[in-house]
Amino acid sequence: MFKIEKSVKKRKVLIVCPHPDDGEAFVSQLGIQSIKAGWDVHQVIATCDEYGTPINEFKGERISRIRRHEMLTAQKRYGLDSNGKPLLTLHWMDYVDGYVPHNKAAVNRLQKFILKINPDVIIGPDPFIYCDGHVDHMAVGKNYFFALKQLKQEERPKLMLFFQTLIPNIFLPKLFSKEIYYIREAHRSQWSRRMLRIVEIFNFVTQISFQFKNLTIRADKLQFVEGYRRVLFNNEDHIPRGIAKIFFYIFKDTPLGCEEGRLLPHPKALGIDLIPPNDIN
Ligand SMILES: [Zn+2]
Repeated sequence: MFKIEKSVKKRKVLIVCPHPDDGEAFVSQLGIQSIKAGWDVHQVIATCDEYGTPINEFKGERISRIRRHEMLTAQKRYGLDSNGKPLLTLHWMDYVDGYVPHNKAAVNRLQKFILKINPDVIIGPDPFIYCDGHVDHMAVGKNYFFALKQLKQEERPKLMLFFQTLIPNIFLPKLFSKEIYYIREAHRSQWSRRMLRIVEIFNFVTQISFQFKNLTIRADKLQFVEGYRRVLFNNEDHIPRGIAKIFFYIFKDTPLGCEEGRLLPHPKALGIDLIPPNDIN
């Protein structure tokens, strides 16, 4: 279990997400707890859900406009400072949903951005022992891992973590449940009330053995956890073990929300540019 506390030096957190809503689905505790502790929290989002609907007429600009607006609403719901400025800072990588590249240029681009933000704590998708095999989660996870791997030891953030992992080894107690429900609810075009409940259950079930190992009682209630995995650079650390093997077998080829035909028609046919600007802002 690790603790997020107010500190003399303002700590910085960077959350690396494939889509608007992943930060709220998988990393809500790190997000809200570090904001409540007065830390400087950033979220960088790879795409804007251009293919986030099965309806062809809505793909591209129309759906991404909705999703961007919802993300901005979620951002405000994390809280505002005394000048009305959101406490969470958002950045966009401007890739296209479903078409995030994993190549040298994408790794270097993310690495440059990490160095610019220079966070103390960083978290991104686990591309090795995961519970969401969406192509963008895989590409962003690999870009994230290799961007960190290729940094010098002294350039790396002090704490480097993975989310969407089946083998967590570092935990935060689940707090601020009302606030998190309110923030998640901002993603209303993709999360129904039922989905808002399912996401909690999904996170619980996919880390079930770790939930029981870390179970405590707080104010007469069972205290559950949100689990992340430390980023290490030895290969043995990236092989599923124990119960995670079973879940991994189920999820390894299961992209959530990315069924056959979802990524068609091709971005060119929708008039979407696949090449993002040089720098992430
Ligand atoms: Zn996603």
